[in-house]
Amino acid sequence: MLSRPAKRDLRAQSVEQWAEYLEGLGQPRYRAQQLFDWLWVKNAERIEDMSNLPKALRAQLEADFSYHKLAIAHRLQSADGTLKYGFRLWDGKLIEGVLIPSAHGVTACISSQVGCSLDCTFCATGYLRLQRNLEAYEIYEQVALLRTEAQAAFGEPLSHVVYMGMGEPLLNYRNVLLSIEKVTRPEGLGMSPRRLTLSTSGIAKQIVRLADDGLKTEFALSLHSAREALRAQIMPISLSNPLSELVPALVYFYEKTGTRVTYEYVLLDGVNDGPEDVEALIDFSRHIPCKVNLIEYNPIAEADYRPSREARTRAFEGRLAQAGVLVTLRRSRGKDIDGACGQLALRHLPAAG
Ligand code: SAH
Ligand code: SF4
Repeated sequence: MLSRPAKRDLRAQSVEQWAEYLEGLGQPRYRAQQLFDWLWVKNAERIEDMSNLPKALRAQLEADFSYHKLAIAHRLQSADGTLKYGFRLWDGKLIEGVLIPSAHGVTACISSQVGCSLDCTFCATGYLRLQRNLEAYEIYEQVALLRTEAQAAFGEPLSHVVYMGMGEPLLNYRNVLLSIEKVTRPEGLGMSPRRLTLSTSGIAKQIVRLADDGLKTEFALSLHSAREALRAQIMPISLSNPLSELVPALVYFYEKTGTRVTYEYVLLDGVNDGPEDVEALIDFSRHIPCKVNLIEYNPIAEADYRPSREARTRAFEGRLAQAGVLVTLRRSRGKDIDGACGQLALRHLPAAG
């Protein structure tokens, strides 16, 4: 007997594949649109719930496809209101997402991979190995779920989505871009692309690719040092993607998209927060229109860095502003539940089943 091929997920099909499949079943054309709405707009819980599809068609879909949903495995609330979620994937693996309420609305921070293949020395996710890439629908569904949760917890829709959870988005390029499409299209969650931010540790050739693909979202580069030797020390990805290669990629990106890039810079006490560091950063900021987002370091168990002291942080910020660089300082949120930047490492979650 022939073994049955593994079923594909309902959401791993393109609209064209849908149309063809439904036509094969003798279904009218508009069914493809109805199905699309259940999958990408309403985020239906089960095939069974797709009430405007005939019962027989729903049964056929159940037989032909899988429909894997994310389950909320864990929810932790920080004293500052930040909520951290553990999401269980169909294969038992776990990822994390965070909801951060602020005066500007509610931001969802989502993951793009299970773990991360890179090994930035200050990031808890970097100490996990990469288990797998997320499918586009698994990235999309974090947004859909967190949108519902934001409404329930804060009575507000999501205002922003940042790809700053676990993983390096540009090493899961295709699925990340597909997820952006599903989140931003009117026939999807309909969020403005300007409310989304893609963040990368800096992979030059993928930045060029983003430019060629006409990325419409906001874009952030995790810089953390504008001094090559130091950057390579704290972010080994800089050995294969040095600043000398990132700069032309960034210039190309800016020329093509016109998007002002944000440089993220975690301030590490005595490591990258000195006068020569700030001068290197000022020089670096001259390449293209940009802004600098200084980030308070969130201590992690795996590394012995400390956050910059207040006076040094202020001096660093002040010098940038004095040099005419647009700068903001981001204070840590959700630290008590390991929900802050770089702390996502599944510490509070039961081991994957
Ligand atoms: N891999 C992508 C996106 C996820 S990391 C990237 O590196 O950009 C999101 C942001 O959190 C990055 O700017 C990262 O450098 C920062 N980050 C990592 N560890 C941190 C820590 N311990 N404290 C504060 N920020 C951290
Ligand atoms: Fe991966 Fe980003 Fe963490 Fe670096 S900072 S290890 S790229 S998640």
